[in-house]
Amino acid sequence: MSRAVADICALCGGSATAVSPGAAFSGVTSDIKPWPRMGGILCCEACGHVQKRLDGQWRADASAIYADYVMYHLSGGAEQVVFDTGQACPRTARLIAGMARAWDLPQTGRLLDVGCGGGAFLAAFRQAMPGWKLYGHDHCAQRRAEVEAVPGVCGFHCGALEEAAAQNGPFDAVSLIYVLEHMPEPVAELSRLRGLLKPGGTLMVMVPDFAQNPFDLAVVDHCGHFFAETLAHAAGLAGFDVLALGRHWMAKEVGFLARPRAGAAATPPAPGAQAPGQGLALAQGSLDWLRRTVDTARNAAETLHAKGRRFALFGTAIAGSWLAQELSGHVDCFVDEDALRWGKTHLGLPIIGPAQAAPGTGLFLGFPPLLAGGIAQRLGPNYPHLDFIVPQG
Ligand SMILES: [Zn+2]
Repeated sequence: MSRAVADICALCGGSATAVSPGAAFSGVTSDIKPWPRMGGILCCEACGHVQKRLDGQWRADASAIYADYVMYHLSGGAEQVVFDTGQACPRTARLIAGMARAWDLPQTGRLLDVGCGGGAFLAAFRQAMPGWKLYGHDHCAQRRAEVEAVPGVCGFHCGALEEAAAQNGPFDAVSLIYVLEHMPEPVAELSRLRGLLKPGGTLMVMVPDFAQNPFDLAVVDHCGHFFAETLAHAAGLAGFDVLALGRHWMAKEVGFLARPRAGAAATPPAPGAQAPGQGLALAQGSLDWLRRTVDTARNAAETLHAKGRRFALFGTAIAGSWLAQELSGHVDCFVDEDALRWGKTHLGLPIIGPAQAAPGTGLFLGFPPLLAGGIAQRLGPNYPHLDFIVPQG
């Protein structure tokens, strides 16, 4: 693979090397649509940041994806729910519960949620901190009415962040939830947020954790595949001191709480010594694991079909959708715990509940092995008619 001039780390400006051209794999968009390619994967030799190659193809793909973006279309616009304790819980409510264990916020203040979408994070924050005044910002005004209807929301901004700050800032807290991984210039983005905060204010950031979830590589419009060390490094480069690094606030996600560093002229911190090797090992290991997992699933499907049994994928989110594409022709249906999705179709396949699946159906749990094992343990006793298939490590 020839080395392009543009292979520069989006985080630190260091030299980034190709881990894989990525052409062998299909991709999926973050709003869960199939995409013909994953994109090239790079890893920075200096800081270990794993990232997409931001070439002309990626930029064209990202523009096309955002031009036609639909949040939570399978749930009819309702926020995604998580089932990790057996009880359905809105995803952001679970996130706030995790984050709140680490934060030390006053009872009143002003929060700006950047990239607020339909206001899910604002609504969950309100539940935990009813005394706060809330503001939302998004690049498009399509969901303004939804955001403004969230209790506690005092304003919605669209356009330049500086305008939000001029009208309602500075803020005691700024949140950036599932946004940074989409940003081609993450450090510049974080630095901009520093200017919106009061001295001593809190920045709250959450992204998918690449160290916990190899499927994140498949998301075409995720150009940064952060893990704890590179996420903390990004915060440092943008002039923040990390107060708490959250590896376990949410399964498969990582975040931080940070404060603007006093004395802005301080030298940027050096990356962790282990990070470059860690990033490369994670990226190579993840691509290998994805390849093995697709092979395992395909073999399982063929074996089951030879016996006249059915093969289903568990979940209709990123991993399930990507696997369905890679396993085209081998999958009979999706099985999902979210009742809002039952009876619909996804990628041309029916979505059913676990109880509705035919006896002897092989249910492939397309998750990292530890997580998949936990799901099999949780669901197994309730659905003894299903044969749970867990990917190998
Ligand atoms: Zn770097």
